[in-house]
Amino acid sequence: MPQAMEGKTLAEKIKAEVKREVDRIKQELGEVPRLIGILVGENKSSEIYLRTKERTAQSLGIISKILRLPESISQEELIARLQSLNDSPEIDGILVQLPLPSKFQTNQVIEAISPEKDVDGFHPLNLGRLLMNEIGLRPCTPAGIIELLKFYGVTIEGQEVVIIGRSLIVGKPLAAMFINENATVTICHSRTKDLSKVASRADILVAAMGRPAYIQSDFVKEGAIVVDVGINYVSDAALIEKIFGDDPKRRQDWQEKGYTIVGDVHPQAREKSSLFTPVPGGVGPLTVAMLMRNTLLAFKRRRHLS
Ligand code: NAD
Repeated sequence: MPQAMEGKTLAEKIKAEVKREVDRIKQELGEVPRLIGILVGENKSSEIYLRTKERTAQSLGIISKILRLPESISQEELIARLQSLNDSPEIDGILVQLPLPSKFQTNQVIEAISPEKDVDGFHPLNLGRLLMNEIGLRPCTPAGIIELLKFYGVTIEGQEVVIIGRSLIVGKPLAAMFINENATVTICHSRTKDLSKVASRADILVAAMGRPAYIQSDFVKEGAIVVDVGINYVSDAALIEKIFGDDPKRRQDWQEKGYTIVGDVHPQAREKSSLFTPVPGGVGPLTVAMLMRNTLLAFKRRRHLS
């Protein structure tokens, strides 16, 4: 019987650790970490994600603010704002909520964030430190996946890992993290030939594609560990029924919200696994928890506390 890896449980533990440390620092130094999230233009999902990050930070004693900028702002103005936040002693962590509106050069914007304050871990210096296996701020979703596997006692060393998805946010940094843990790693993407054949070699299979229920049973080796990173908002009732049959929970979710969140892995494909991450409640909650940990780390490193 496959067992679910409950990211929520680990996320709560990580957040409780961060809170304890923030409380301790506040008592000893009279200071707390400060995080700023930047939202450019209007994007409903980005707004929801950022508000979740802000609320979570505040619940842990971290001071958190959202800076809302209009889409009309130029790339130069945005970079100038980032530079003044970089220079501000008041701010420990800066994140720019992605995706940015299409007129912006996302890579250039990310490069304008000070690497010491880059709590998303996307700056080239932090990604370079990851490749060099040196201490640095790590991208939150992949770092959360590694933590979750360790939390559930999964051996990574020597395992065959297949990651489907090569984004800079998930697939590529995750591959580097698995290599640093001595796994054998294959990255697949939209041009990979015979995807199911490659995927079915995996001891640990990670799906980070953004394609609802794409991973079918023939992609999964019997007893493999399956990590589902996908977050797909599906509102098409026929598609929901096709994926989940007459699952009453999914139907109710759809009836209440008008959509349900579906991972990249088909529910039947999970049945072949030994361990899997549910969607929702698997990888998702860890991303925010790791962001909180990065904010604390950025605060401490700027003050040479550890
Ligand atoms: P992306 O669109 O940047 O990248 C998707 C990747 O999947 C690409 O490399 C593409 O080549 C690959 N891909 C797409 N279709 C494919 C196919 N048919 N065959 C093989 N490869 C294919 O997406 P992303 O930002 O990496 O996000 C991926 C998914 O993970 C999304 O659903 C996103 O919402 C989710 N996500 C979740 C979290 C979390 O906190 N749980 C964080 C980030 C992203």
